[in-house]
Amino acid sequence: MIASLRNAELVAGRLALDFANLSPSAHDLSWDEFVSFLVDARLVSEDRAARLRPLVRNEPHAVDAVLLRILRLRESLRAIFASLVSKDAYPSSWVEPVNEILRITEGHDELVTRNGGWTLQFVAREGGLEWLLAAIARSAAELLVEGPRAPIRRCANPACRLFFYDDSRTHRRRWCSMKVCGNRHKVSAFLRRQRSSKETRK
Ligand SMILES: [Zn+2]
Repeated sequence: MIASLRNAELVAGRLALDFANLSPSAHDLSWDEFVSFLVDARLVSEDRAARLRPLVRNEPHAVDAVLLRILRLRESLRAIFASLVSKDAYPSSWVEPVNEILRITEGHDELVTRNGGWTLQFVAREGGLEWLLAAIARSAAELLVEGPRAPIRRCANPACRLFFYDDSRTHRRRWCSMKVCGNRHKVSAFLRRQRSSKETRK
């Protein structure tokens, strides 16, 4: 199921949540996977990605250093978002990896169109590889500022548990994606009903 999400539309509705969802079953994350995520999230173009991918061979130390930051950021965001979902408090030290990225990446905001309206998008000044994480850290910071009011939820499928931002009108979204987990649930509920109606007919 995770594999089918590759190069697909990201489902969480917020960049930082999509980043926290990145390869949930795997502890590790490869440079290639991260670069593909940047393309999926439209943070870099395919051209740019083609220039980033070989860095794992050409600049292994720089890539290792940024991968370490990526993993640190992902683990702390997962812990923070899980706390927000369950309305638990979390230690302020958990936001340090976010602040770390905010500190080393400079940039500016820019208005871009999205869904027929305007949204502010952070554009990082390029330098080092850390700038690749700038927009993700910025998105995380916005969610943390929103705090417990942020409608962050997890997919109701116990085998999935992806994070998403519920900005549905009714605030009752249950699935990461109707196409994946929502449909699976509908099909199994349908099969259950079929089976039980057959049993009552016997
Ligand atoms: Zn799901």
